[in-house]
Amino acid sequence: MPFCQAHCPLQNNIPDWLKLTAEGRLEEAYELSQATNNMPEICGRICPQDKLCEGNCVIEQSGHGTVTIGAVEKYLSDTAWANGWVKPLKHRRVRAEHVGIIGAGPAGLAAAEELRRKGYKVTVYDRHDRAGGLLTYGIPNFKLEKDVVMRRVKRLEDGGIVFKLGFEVGRDASLADLREKHDAVFIATGAYRPREIDAPGVTLKHVVPALDYLIASNRKGFGDRVPDFDSGALDAKGKHVAVIGGGDTAMDCVRTAIRQGAKQVSCIYRRDMENMPGSLREVANADEEGIVFEWLTLPKAFLGKKKVEGVRLTRMRLGTPDHSGRKTPVEVEGADFTLNADLVIKALGFDAEDLPKIFDAPGLSVSRWGTLTTDPKTLATTMDGVFAGGDIARGASLVVWAIRDGRDAAAGIHNYLEAKAQTVLEAAE
Ligand SMILES: Cc1cc2nc3c(=O)[nH]c(=O)nc-3n(C[C@H](O)[C@H](O)[C@H](O)COP(=O)(O)OP(=O)(O)OC[C@H]3O[C@@H](n4cnc5c(N)ncnc54)[C@H](O)[C@@H]3O)c2cc1C
Ligand code: SF4
Repeated sequence: MPFCQAHCPLQNNIPDWLKLTAEGRLEEAYELSQATNNMPEICGRICPQDKLCEGNCVIEQSGHGTVTIGAVEKYLSDTAWANGWVKPLKHRRVRAEHVGIIGAGPAGLAAAEELRRKGYKVTVYDRHDRAGGLLTYGIPNFKLEKDVVMRRVKRLEDGGIVFKLGFEVGRDASLADLREKHDAVFIATGAYRPREIDAPGVTLKHVVPALDYLIASNRKGFGDRVPDFDSGALDAKGKHVAVIGGGDTAMDCVRTAIRQGAKQVSCIYRRDMENMPGSLREVANADEEGIVFEWLTLPKAFLGKKKVEGVRLTRMRLGTPDHSGRKTPVEVEGADFTLNADLVIKALGFDAEDLPKIFDAPGLSVSRWGTLTTDPKTLATTMDGVFAGGDIARGASLVVWAIRDGRDAAAGIHNYLEAKAQTVLEAAE
């Protein structure tokens, strides 16, 4: 298998659809690209291609510059939508079994599509008022336009998938309730427990979690009324903004703040650029847009009376590698300084929520990181008929991996239901 294909989590047949595109056979190229991907136009826009397909392109490695695989994938699907080549979701046979999916992010949506295609009745539950998960409320509009997400959701609705929005499992039903109602359940609730900063002043006003900030901005994009944005609390306009963290969420925050008209935006990260967890392409974009990167810097205290007015920072250096092989940041003595900031955004990443507790389901087994334990092939959890995938099983990851899990879980659920039906048949004989 070619390197680019092997490094795409969906193992997209990239070389063949690139060849078809070069020959002008766009509809055939699109057909091939959508055969392995439920949302190619979304992956084309937001996959960190430098770490996946494009970063492993042999043409790139031979010094000829990379083939822009993501851009071609996006172009093919956008052209397909514009020309009516994206077909309605249909199924050949109707099955009696009903599958419940918790979470309408990419993992839940991909599983819903695959299961509906096979003829199952599918209901997707989500606590938000719109489907899409982080595609809708996490990733900013300038990276992923929301009409692109909504038209995918509409296609699924038109195909007979039922969405129960504003429905929070743990509050409106327990996992046992859903398990009783459905022949199988897929948990795709993402990872939403924000990592916290332990420093004095962290509870001051206008020190805010990244997701609150991004959700408010995305809601404004939909035209919603957002009191905390309208009051200025979650609006960066005219402010000195400090974003703490070095991952893709931090990059989305700094780039959103610039677009909202912030006076100055600084990104504070305790390691150096080479050791950032985010995509280097995103760092380059942020750098071009004028973000000030404070590398090797750690917040020691948030300053101010009621509202935050500044951050006391200290310089770090990289010491010896830890168990994961990454060099540990060590504080440089006497290197404190203060940065003015009237909005501080905490973007240190996310962990899994305590689902066995929230879902009142002690039978769900979790890893030491709190992610749900699943069979690597079928994605079955430790509870009969309950499957899990996406960030809740992997930890905070990528959209393309969530889609992969959704597809794998749909296959796992199909095999489980077929085996169950076979057992019933044999018992009746
Ligand atoms: C700010 C940000 C930017 C990102 N940018 C990128 C990027 O550019 N490229 C990329 O590939 N990845 C990116 N990611 C990561 C990517 O968004 C996630 O890996 C992906 O969305 C995970 O998909 P999922 O379906 O597992 O979960 P999610 O997309 O998180 O969806 C989970 C859904 O479950 C719902 N839910 C949770 N609990 C319950 C409950 N109890 N009851 C009902 N519903 C519930 C939530 O409301 C949500 O809609 C980004 C992440 C963040 C936070
Ligand atoms: S899905 Fe992502 S990794 Fe795969 S080909 Fe498309 S852009 Fe590359």
